[in-house]
Amino acid sequence: MRKLIAGNWKMNGLRASSDVITEIVQGLEGTEIEADCLICPPFTLLGAFAEQTAGSGLKIGAQNCHAVASGAHTGDVSAQMLADIGASHVILGHSERRADHGELSSDVAAKASAAVDAGLVPIICVGESLADREAGLTRKVVLGQLDMSLPDALVEKPFVIAYEPIWAIGTGLTADAGQIAEVHHAVREALVKRFGEQGHNVQILYGGSMKPANATEILGVADVDGGLIGGASLKAADFLAIFNSAG
Ligand code: PEP
Repeated sequence: MRKLIAGNWKMNGLRASSDVITEIVQGLEGTEIEADCLICPPFTLLGAFAEQTAGSGLKIGAQNCHAVASGAHTGDVSAQMLADIGASHVILGHSERRADHGELSSDVAAKASAAVDAGLVPIICVGESLADREAGLTRKVVLGQLDMSLPDALVEKPFVIAYEPIWAIGTGLTADAGQIAEVHHAVREALVKRFGEQGHNVQILYGGSMKPANATEILGVADVDGGLIGGASLKAADFLAIFNSAG
């Protein structure tokens, strides 16, 4: 399956960060790797980056959206607005949003419906905490989140899953190849059970302290169809090195 290498800039980046985007676009021009490449900056930079990357190999996505298209929701941004400004994807249900904003899987499912209605590709994040893993609950937690975060509206619509063990995000710790393979296999089985043939074609990304030094090994694991990269996506050279491991 074609891989997707996606950068999550979180709450980082100012207008001057367009230099990083320029460097990534230039790096992609010189590569023969056939994979999709995406950067998800904060809302404030979406419009400028979408214009800057138009016609290039780099896509631009968002990190969240509201569940309805418009209305009295002060401070929120709808999926329709993101599509209008040139975003192709939207990250939903990231563990930081589940923790900081109390987002439930049911909220994520509603947002995912809104995203596909607006023509965006949702990247739906799932992952266990360290306590879940230590209690032997990884499979139960991840598959439970998956089941409740995916609306029926995804049938025959493109969507992406990101498996991100919470204990590996921003910590420098990564799940090992065996742990990643086990969860990705379980996610694939669940997708096929629920979505049939479509489930075989859903990209399943791994996220959690991916960096140039571990990208080749992680991207080589069965059913790993790309990466969701936080810290290492802020530096063009590191992000491009990860992208170049996707071939
Ligand atoms: C993320 O925020 O999705 C992530 C995986 O972060 P990091 O790569 O910094 O662990």
